[in-house]
Amino acid sequence: MSEKILIVEDNKTLAKLIAKKLAFALDIEIDVAYSLQEAKLFIARYKYFLALLDINLPDAPNGEIVDYAIKKGLHSIVLSGNIDKDFRKKILQKNIIDYVNKSGANDINYIIQIIQRLQKNRNHKVLVVDDSRLFRQTMQNILENLFFKVIAVAHGEEAVGMLKSQPDISLVLTDYNMPVMDGLELTIEVRKSYSKNELCILALSGNEDEEITALFLKHGANDYIKKPFSKEEFSCRVNNSIEALENIQLITNYASRDFLTGLFNRRYFFKEVNDYIDEIKQNGEQFALGMIDIDHFKKVNDTYGHDIGDKIITSLADILRSSTNPQDIVARFGGEEFCVVLKNVNRHSAQEIFERLRENVERSSYHLKDDREITFTISIGALLFKEEESLEENLNEADMLLYKAKNNGRNQLIFES
Ligand code: GH3
Ligand code: MG
Ligand code: MG
Repeated sequence: MSEKILIVEDNKTLAKLIAKKLAFALDIEIDVAYSLQEAKLFIARYKYFLALLDINLPDAPNGEIVDYAIKKGLHSIVLSGNIDKDFRKKILQKNIIDYVNKSGANDINYIIQIIQRLQKNRNHKVLVVDDSRLFRQTMQNILENLFFKVIAVAHGEEAVGMLKSQPDISLVLTDYNMPVMDGLELTIEVRKSYSKNELCILALSGNEDEEITALFLKHGANDYIKKPFSKEEFSCRVNNSIEALENIQLITNYASRDFLTGLFNRRYFFKEVNDYIDEIKQNGEQFALGMIDIDHFKKVNDTYGHDIGDKIITSLADILRSSTNPQDIVARFGGEEFCVVLKNVNRHSAQEIFERLRENVERSSYHLKDDREITFTISIGALLFKEEESLEENLNEADMLLYKAKNNGRNQLIFES
């Protein structure tokens, strides 16, 4: 998809200001047209991600540009200085994303925020569940205009099936009264597999019964929208829910990663490995784990300083990642100590991989700005996982083997025979 934005605005100073701020904040290419005529030429020539439209142009004083842009299939935000309520309502009825003021610095920041939201919305799939074809279509139009990928179904049972085949859906919008399986039953069913932090549920209903709202929320809906709703309220609630979901996922990611290297941290390592052990319980798959520690790392810090020490740790992390398969688990346990789990390997190949890993580190070098090179080595204690023992016990044994490798002169692998 093209990342260009078209601004149509006859106030040249304002148009240029908005263009400059948007280009700076969004790293997006921007074209500016000063009249409907000019806009038509641009639209005929280029593809746009989005259009920002002034409704009062010299050759189109009554919002004609909006109808033209919509006819051309452009996602549009309307800019206006006109805050007349009825006029605003009339414009909002058209298939536009939003209607915003353009006069102040805050207004431009608001526009930037919306565009950033829209860019991220493209990564999200939304499932619309409603037995009314009209409502389904209305919601689908609004959501597609907000750049969501939309799937629409007619009742709860269809929705459950869809979630099975498309597990990456971010948001479910569900009506209450539906045949076969109603919205509340659907919510209860979905919450058996997805927590609130993994999947958002927004409930919709025309039902006057206050109890239903509470029941939806008690059974795991993230929010509730009463029918009939305004397009603005609907859009805001959907965007807010998706934003909350993204924030939780961002925090979860921070909590599971080591800040310096981006590898899993120790706590998350345990979760990942235990999940993996559960997964392979039935099929007899074997795997290996290795404890890894940089040799004489204290000397690196003492000679070159702590910052260079950090760079060495990061470069080791990169080598560990690139010398293993994407599905293997690489974690930083702390300091200059790492743990690697090689999935689905036998004793022979595990030993080979860990040995190659040690050689890759020995052969690599870190270049300082003044052209000096730092080389370093690692010691590894590794073993094939023993399923009759716990993960902690296996790790302790790997630790003992690492200790042996250190005592044996370092820069070596000791693989339990
Ligand atoms: P050995 O070969 O026995 O492992 O010797 P060593 O010097 O590598 O081991 P030791 O445990 O004595 O020292 C580890 C050093 O790593 C001490 C500590 O200051 C440094 N270190 C731990 N974490 C970090 C870090 O995040 N960044 C940097 N730059 N240094 C760290
Ligand atoms: Mg060390
Ligand atoms: Mg150490």
